[in-house]
Amino acid sequence: MDGRGILIVVSGFSGSGKGTIMNEIIRRYNNYALSVSATTRNPRPGETEGKEYFFKSVEEFEKMIAKDELIEYARYVDNYYGTPRAYVEEQLEAGKDVILEIEIQGAIKVKEKFPDTLLLFVTPPTAEELRKRLVGRGTETMDVIDFRMKRAKEESLGMDRYDYLIINDVLEDCVEEMHRIIQGEHRRSFRNQAFIEHMKEELKGE
Ligand code: 5GP
Repeated sequence: MDGRGILIVVSGFSGSGKGTIMNEIIRRYNNYALSVSATTRNPRPGETEGKEYFFKSVEEFEKMIAKDELIEYARYVDNYYGTPRAYVEEQLEAGKDVILEIEIQGAIKVKEKFPDTLLLFVTPPTAEELRKRLVGRGTETMDVIDFRMKRAKEESLGMDRYDYLIINDVLEDCVEEMHRIIQGEHRRSFRNQAFIEHMKEELKGE
């Protein structure tokens, strides 16, 4: 099969469990690379430079934009978030499937620039379950939860722009399903032009 990795964008509502799914899929399989974004937001307790994000000042971030070092960037809740280009290209070239965990505006920009991108959207089975999970975290005030539910309502308008929905009911099943979808994606004929050409060549003399 053709050697280049697939660029995968994963989006989902805040509280959909996408972060946990990403960590688990990376832990289980070795063909994935997770892109680390740059952001101007402050680190949350427990976050470290270069692991969750590269933390930048607005000035530094704007320099990265000017130098075209980002594949895409977006403003989200008054902060910049963007995907550094170099790591993504390097890993794709090495045959890794690269996962970007980004919000919807960024997802659409990536798809426009690179139409072969696989877009996955993670959602809990019901809106009720989403609220329950946000409440269950116990770290947010009711105002924050209401705000996130309103944002989820807006983000739901973009769900049908994604190639697949990943329903996160049971984590275990969800990780396996995401992996299977990506494996299936590798078999798409348009991703295997070299194989097709080779097969045609071999069959020429028959
Ligand atoms: P948080 O501040 O909660 O870590 O992230 C806020 C939102 O920004 C999440 O929806 C996350 O997926 C998104 N995000 C993280 N990195 C990037 C990025 O590089 N580009 C874009 N467009 N969104 C990002």
